[in-house]
Amino acid sequence: MKSTKLKDKKIQIINCDKPALEGKKGAIIKVSGCGLCGSDIVKINHATIENEDKIILGHEAIGTIEDINVEIKGKGENIPFKKGDVVALGHHYPCFKCKYCSHGNYSMCKTFKNSNIYPSGFSEYIFVNENHLKYTVYKKNESLSNEEFSFLEPLSCCIRAIKRAGLKLNKDNSSYNCLVVGLGSIGILMAQGLKAFQTNVFGLDINEKRQEFVKKYGVFFNEKIKYDIIFMTSGSFRALETALNLIDFGGKIIVFSSIEGDLGYKNNDIYYKELEILGSYSPSPDDLYLSSIFLKEGRVNVKGLSTDYTLDNLARAVDDTKSGKILKAYIVI
Ligand SMILES: [Zn+2]
Ligand SMILES: [Zn+2]
Repeated sequence: MKSTKLKDKKIQIINCDKPALEGKKGAIIKVSGCGLCGSDIVKINHATIENEDKIILGHEAIGTIEDINVEIKGKGENIPFKKGDVVALGHHYPCFKCKYCSHGNYSMCKTFKNSNIYPSGFSEYIFVNENHLKYTVYKKNESLSNEEFSFLEPLSCCIRAIKRAGLKLNKDNSSYNCLVVGLGSIGILMAQGLKAFQTNVFGLDINEKRQEFVKKYGVFFNEKIKYDIIFMTSGSFRALETALNLIDFGGKIIVFSSIEGDLGYKNNDIYYKELEILGSYSPSPDDLYLSSIFLKEGRVNVKGLSTDYTLDNLARAVDDTKSGKILKAYIVI
């Protein structure tokens, strides 16, 4: 089967053995597509000849269960997963027992970091184990296309960030002015997620086209107000200064992307303004569940956000994403 590897820091489409259950508990999924995540691009950019063999590209996969040897129900489901189910998935699951898990920092858990799908999302087939099925795999419903439901994992990352900011679902959060800095696909998901959490949502991007595009989601920028919570989905170092200029007293800045260089927030700003600076890295199983609900109920609309590429054109998808030509690439497999 076809799969993907990095060789000499470049994407290569390789031929390898199709994964098989062979006594391992779990399922084989025939992948129909996989979203390209900003973190895949960071991994490619930071690859070295020494570590490139361990890099797994692609985790926003969707496909059909081709083989399964366990009886496990997904969260919120009445019947166990079976052959033929179309499912999207997250790639990491926590242990629920360690110190990090008990503090709610699931994505810092060792089990979480070491778990993954096999061999990678940009493959024709993947193996997921029983813990994936239990905690990170969700069935698609009729109303969504495969491409739309592949947003399960990226949207769950945004939900994690919204919860990190202390916002609670089904509460009136309209006293919070939230600003999303960086209006790529993740910024658009974040803005819609924040609307579902009933906050006042604004967005800012240096790219005028993107600033214009988000108006269709009811997202504008208001330069006259200060913001209670700022979500940093931009990977630009200039965004840091923007955030510090726009944050209100007692505000929270959610650090959501990696930024090149050794930059930081200013001690005295944090002190005098009583700011909170919080990182948000990767979703817990509960965030994946809520993401599945938001997509299925249409509370977050991802129609038309992604552009299709074939697996053979993965390198071009990476280039087009980097240059900002497209919002998001979906690799049809
Ligand atoms: Zn991702
Ligand atoms: Zn743990």
